[in-house]
Amino acid sequence: MSLGAMDIFKLLPGGKRNENANCKKCGCATCMMFAIKLSKGQCDGSLCPYMDDELSQKLAHSRKVQQQTLKLGRLAVGGENVMYRHEKTFINPCVYAITLDSKSPDFEEKLSRILNFEIECVGNKYKIDAVYFKNPVNGAVQALKEKGIEILDDDFLLNMHEVEYTTLDDTILNLANIRYQAVVKRNEEFSKPVYVKLYGDDYCSLCAIASALVCKYANLIIFENLNEALLSSIITLRLNIYTDPQKPLQVESKVYEFNNPDENALVFLTTNFALSYFAVANELSGLKCGSYLVITPSEGMSVLTAWSAQKITAEIASKVVSANSILDKVKNRRIIIPGLLSDLREELQEALPDWKIVVGTTEAYKIPDFVKKLSDV
Ligand code: SF4
Repeated sequence: MSLGAMDIFKLLPGGKRNENANCKKCGCATCMMFAIKLSKGQCDGSLCPYMDDELSQKLAHSRKVQQQTLKLGRLAVGGENVMYRHEKTFINPCVYAITLDSKSPDFEEKLSRILNFEIECVGNKYKIDAVYFKNPVNGAVQALKEKGIEILDDDFLLNMHEVEYTTLDDTILNLANIRYQAVVKRNEEFSKPVYVKLYGDDYCSLCAIASALVCKYANLIIFENLNEALLSSIITLRLNIYTDPQKPLQVESKVYEFNNPDENALVFLTTNFALSYFAVANELSGLKCGSYLVITPSEGMSVLTAWSAQKITAEIASKVVSANSILDKVKNRRIIIPGLLSDLREELQEALPDWKIVVGTTEAYKIPDFVKKLSDV
């Protein structure tokens, strides 16, 4: 773990409340200021003449590399510095590689499936990260690279630590111990990123095993076989694990269109929290009629949180509506706001006098029923 400002401060004269506290010899006004700078790596500990051995040793320990970062083309492997995602964040997503051998009878067919694999998730497209290529041939290497698929070879793996898969329990224990030694103990012997090879083609058990290994604590998994369903599952899982818990997932604030909206289209409004957007977008895509979805800039907060934090107000919402001339062609002039924003209705009505503000549902899945009854609203 890295040394925080308070950990440092406690061991400085200011934290110990001794006679040298806040002497300014380090160039900082207080020991606390110095501790903050030191924790951010913005100054050198030697500037304080009163640093004791305990703090010097802790600082030296905290500067040791935890887990090395390796570059595999556009990908980075390893570089993790926490045991648990909620401590800070995990950094470089576990890389998924598929074994490919040009001498194998199914080479062409497997290569074609690898090149063609693509899934779309939360608005982004994902391909296979890398191919562990045995007996590589130039044409295939070129085709893979053109698709953004990296080539993994034994030379690269020499810089990593292999954990052999035995049983799930033992493998996870092994991986957890290596991560602990690297991250917490800063033991250089364990600082190499870790890979595991998985064999067989039993989709269910491989999916369970790979999911566990992504969570704890493989940096790279090499699959013997390609199974598109398995990859789809674990790519989606990885998206949930390798996000920064301090940064909410958000979508761009703008007006989105569904089912070729025309002058009779419905207009919905919600915040730019990604889950709110996708929940509503999913329902609007399934409607028989066209619709627009106005997304407000709400710092990725869900509707209720944004409303409580004043990140969605009548002023903010009306600005987005007024700035999008695409909405001018809508004849019915109704904006459907989330049920949780019912308290905002009157204020928004005043800000947008040309529109009728309608309070919609509290849950996205109720939108289709709501739309059926909308003529009565
Ligand atoms: Fe505190 Fe800086 Fe003086 Fe050290 S040199 S005791 S950190 S003010």
